[in-house]
Amino acid sequence: MFTVISTARVYPPNEETLLDTRTVPGELKWAASPTEGGWEEVSIMDEKNVPIRTYQVCNVMEPSQSNWLRTDWIPRSGAQRIYVEIKFTLRDCNSLPGVTGTCKETFNLYYYESNNDREHYIRESNFLKIDTVAADESFTQVDIGDRIMKLNTEVRDVKVTTRKGFYLAFQDVGACIALVSVRVFYKTCPLTVRNLATFPDTNTGADTSSLVEVRGSCVNQSEEREEPKMYCGADGEWLVPIGGCVCNLGYEERSGVCQACTVGFNRAVSTDRACSKCPPHSHSEKEGAAVCDCNPGYYRSESDPASMPCTQPPSAPQQLISEVNETSVVLEWSAPLRLGGRSDISYSVDSLKGPLGAQLCLPCSQDVLFSPQQSGLRATRVCVSELQAHTRYTFTILARNGVSQGHSAGAGQSVSVTLTTNQAAPSPVTSIQAGDVTRHGVSLAWQQPDRPNGVILEYEVKYYEKDQKESSYRIMKTASRSADITGLSPLTVYLYQVRARTAAGYGEFSGPLEFSTNSDPLPLIGDAASSTLLLLSISGGVILLLTSTAVFIISRRRGKYSQAKQDSEEEKHLNPGVRIYVDPFTYEDPDQAVHEFAKEIDATYIHIEKVIGIGEFGEVCSGRLRLQGKREIYVAIKSLKAAYSNKQRQDFLSEASIMGQFDHPNIIRLEGVVTRCKPVMIITEYMENGSLDAFLRKHDGHFTVIQLVGMLRGIASGMKYLSDMSYVHRDLAARNILVNSNLVCKVSDFGLSRVLQEDPENAYTTRVTGTYHSPGGKIPIRWTSPEAIAYRKFTPSSDTWSYGVVMWEVMSYGERPYWDMSNQDVIKAIDEGYRLPPPMDCPVCLHQLMLDCWQTERTHRPSFTQILNMLDKLIRNPTTTLRRTGGDRPVPSLLEPVGGPEFVSVWSAEDCLQAIGMGMYRDTLTTAGYTSPDSLLTLTHQ
Ligand code: AMP
Repeated sequence: MFTVISTARVYPPNEETLLDTRTVPGELKWAASPTEGGWEEVSIMDEKNVPIRTYQVCNVMEPSQSNWLRTDWIPRSGAQRIYVEIKFTLRDCNSLPGVTGTCKETFNLYYYESNNDREHYIRESNFLKIDTVAADESFTQVDIGDRIMKLNTEVRDVKVTTRKGFYLAFQDVGACIALVSVRVFYKTCPLTVRNLATFPDTNTGADTSSLVEVRGSCVNQSEEREEPKMYCGADGEWLVPIGGCVCNLGYEERSGVCQACTVGFNRAVSTDRACSKCPPHSHSEKEGAAVCDCNPGYYRSESDPASMPCTQPPSAPQQLISEVNETSVVLEWSAPLRLGGRSDISYSVDSLKGPLGAQLCLPCSQDVLFSPQQSGLRATRVCVSELQAHTRYTFTILARNGVSQGHSAGAGQSVSVTLTTNQAAPSPVTSIQAGDVTRHGVSLAWQQPDRPNGVILEYEVKYYEKDQKESSYRIMKTASRSADITGLSPLTVYLYQVRARTAAGYGEFSGPLEFSTNSDPLPLIGDAASSTLLLLSISGGVILLLTSTAVFIISRRRGKYSQAKQDSEEEKHLNPGVRIYVDPFTYEDPDQAVHEFAKEIDATYIHIEKVIGIGEFGEVCSGRLRLQGKREIYVAIKSLKAAYSNKQRQDFLSEASIMGQFDHPNIIRLEGVVTRCKPVMIITEYMENGSLDAFLRKHDGHFTVIQLVGMLRGIASGMKYLSDMSYVHRDLAARNILVNSNLVCKVSDFGLSRVLQEDPENAYTTRVTGTYHSPGGKIPIRWTSPEAIAYRKFTPSSDTWSYGVVMWEVMSYGERPYWDMSNQDVIKAIDEGYRLPPPMDCPVCLHQLMLDCWQTERTHRPSFTQILNMLDKLIRNPTTTLRRTGGDRPVPSLLEPVGGPEFVSVWSAEDCLQAIGMGMYRDTLTTAGYTSPDSLLTLTHQ
């Protein structure tokens, strides 16, 4: 009887047991051959007293043993290679007393594949040999009775692939063996999870070197990243994992499985390994959130990553400021207070327009130009051009960012400004066509410019012979859109250009239209004409030939003269954009004039602060004006007193219509008018120091000569601008010059009424009170030139006379010209050639300039351009030019005779040259005939 010390029956995980004799309940009852005297089933008890079945044979004394023992049919169960583990004891032949050469120490192991699980008889020769098994080194001691036996464990393997199962057979050839246990198993690669893919339990391959390729399947809540694969090796080991899976969004890998993110967390990107906390302004309410939802009022744009905080549309842009320049406007604003947590802010401009005074606003037409663009603006500035002149526009700047789409509340994100465009010159005439062409003429017709920018007052046609270019041209003006040009030379190519004029000035000329006159004779009218012409053409031929040369010379001369005249008259007209002053009284409707040139201001934008003066029509106040989208500025507010006649209203507003046409640093600037509610007001820039005469009287002796000349220069510059615009002021006097805090002097008082109304200061007096009364109104005698007093000849030259008086007022710190002399005496004295003497400490050359302004012959007076040049030279060389003073008389009560009725300058040319720093040219200029200061005034730079 054997007692086996068995180990617990725990199989390695990668082995699937098909048969284990130790676990078979009851007897094995394997087929033995011979049935008697060969293998014999013997039950023994293992160490735990569990019965086990063994087969034993021990015919060592008999020769030619062949004892077969065959197992029952063993199902293969999909295995391709099976392993047979045999535990056995084998008696050492030497240890057996009396044993002959018949004793063996091995046995053979066979197999036979079969689908039949109950084969009764299998021929021994049908079995295939697996191996001859001998006892090896490893053994376990077995206690059999009082002797130690060696327990061998041998494992053999064989490929079984052809049938559903197999039988094993043990052949004993004469050994003393006890088969303690037989276990048959096959190897598997056990179910495993690798890279989040599950690989099932897999049978190993048929060969010892074979690798079985297995495809894994992704674990729950995961998806394939790359096809997961592994190989099952012959010994049941998984080899070479490839690919794998990743957890679905909202899940993260924990212990080889995908687990849902907890509330308040999310996993939105597959490259993130773990769940992360919801970004700011977002939340997740359920487990397994891929994306956290934005809190109310916060949004994500389509391109925003889920890891980004939720954001908001921006608030409205701030501080929208507009700067109108004729028909374009520059809009500038600041970034919104709240950017909503984003940096992708951009702006767009919406625009509406409407005629002045109308409620309805229409979207702007396509032809408005936005620079750099209308929408998608990154900068906070846009220039809108090609607007219609004198039209009301509302511009709305809308701020957007990546989450504005669909979430914008609209008004909340925008800021608007309403403004009115200014006057602008018309756009060029583009389409000119020639109609009838004759030998001496052509009729032209054209379309109105695309952008008339106002009422077209007239067209100007310029034409010249192509060969002569523009050196000799002629101008024709017409109010209609056609012109019959006559007086052309036959068979000559002419170029024609047309431009339009509105109240804002001339537009640009069209491109030149080239057209030749005909060679055909004039069409004949009736026979008489025919014969007359024939006669003329024959008999006159010779005369024509003879006289043509003379006519040519005369006409060329006349052409040159008229050319020169035209040049001076047309000079400024030919410069597109140079404006010509438009008399508001030429408008049928005075309100149209005022709105043509002045901006209507909403009275609620004006804050009146205090009364600063009394004007012709009512109080003048100072205050503040804050136009929508503009910085607050200080303004002067002239109001029209309550009870006014229609005429007074027109006269009052005419000043605004005039002032509104000017734009110059030395002309008082009009901000706008209030006409739609009462009181009617004119708003101008505020001049802190008030009128110049009072200002100088208040600061008597406080300024340097240079400062005083600086003031005079400013006034001259303003006057030059006015005379360039063909505006004659008629009332230039220190009381009508305003001074600001920087001592900048600006010409003001454009009220035509002044010369028609009674003057409180007695500046404008009448014959009744001993002064001169002109037929058209009252004249400020002391400031007015003799020809203007005598026959109302008001010209830029009469303004020059007044400017001379202003110079005198300035240099004498606001002294009254001609002191207490009566107007009559003033007129008389002037007529007799007397002029005001130099004020105290007045440099000689300044007094000389005054005297030049007071030339009796108006054409001898300097123009404002010349006055300005002169003053500039004085300012540039103050030490040489302003040093000598002429007025050292403390009581300047006497007028100076300056050469009798015909003015002779008291200043020599030498003085002048010295004064303007050109003394070294004295001899050269004297030789050339420049001997008087007058002649020097005609000197050009050349
Ligand atoms: P006027 O009706 O223009 O003669 O104005 C009457 C007075 O108001 C002037 O003499 C000035 O003292 C004062 N005034 C008029 N306009 C302004 C202004 N823009 N700034 C400051 N003071 C002004």
